[in-house]
Amino acid sequence: MNLILFGPPAAGKGTQAKRLVDKRGMVQLSTGDMLRAARSSGSELGKRVSGIMDRGELVSDEIVIALIEERLPETESAGGAIFDGFPRTVAQAEALDRLLDGRGAKIDLVIRLKVDPEALLGRIAARFAAEGRADDNPEAYKVRLDAYMTQTAPLLPYYEGQGKLVEVDGMADIEAVAASIDAALARL
Ligand code: AMP
Repeated sequence: MNLILFGPPAAGKGTQAKRLVDKRGMVQLSTGDMLRAARSSGSELGKRVSGIMDRGELVSDEIVIALIEERLPETESAGGAIFDGFPRTVAQAEALDRLLDGRGAKIDLVIRLKVDPEALLGRIAARFAAEGRADDNPEAYKVRLDAYMTQTAPLLPYYEGQGKLVEVDGMADIEAVAASIDAALARL
């Protein structure tokens, strides 16, 4: 089973993805985590993306699509993939459909964590204090939110048109969100 967790930055996608990994043995594919790992390794790729990430802008489709393509084989021997923070543009979504199709697979479900972006500012301030991620500072976060609204939210009609979109109240507490996700998966 292949699942997309969809929502703006700090909606709780990573938290829910990790839970599904523990519970179902699926593989979390977070392009944000992959890019942060590239940065801390000091690789060429890491150097290319670090300024873009710190500003809160999106890195190129080409880069993230290549990162995902490389990781797809390992998800097949596990319980499937949880895409977290990918796709973020229509071009990425189309590329993902093509890549999966080429492997005889598909996206089964897209779970949208519906959140109030204003309320997220509080969550982000707390994460900034705890983890110190440069792109969680209020200015970069505004750019990230704007990228979500203009480039990522248009994916909602894309997946709705495919009949794959399910909405979950992402403002509920972690356990309640998890229960709603489990219920959506049970209906598949
Ligand atoms: P995240 O941890 O998912 O919020 O990602 C952190 C940053 O990595 C984003 O603000 C972007 O700069 C970059 N990034 C992660 N995933 C993508 C993606 N699918 N497309 C473009 N940029 C991405």
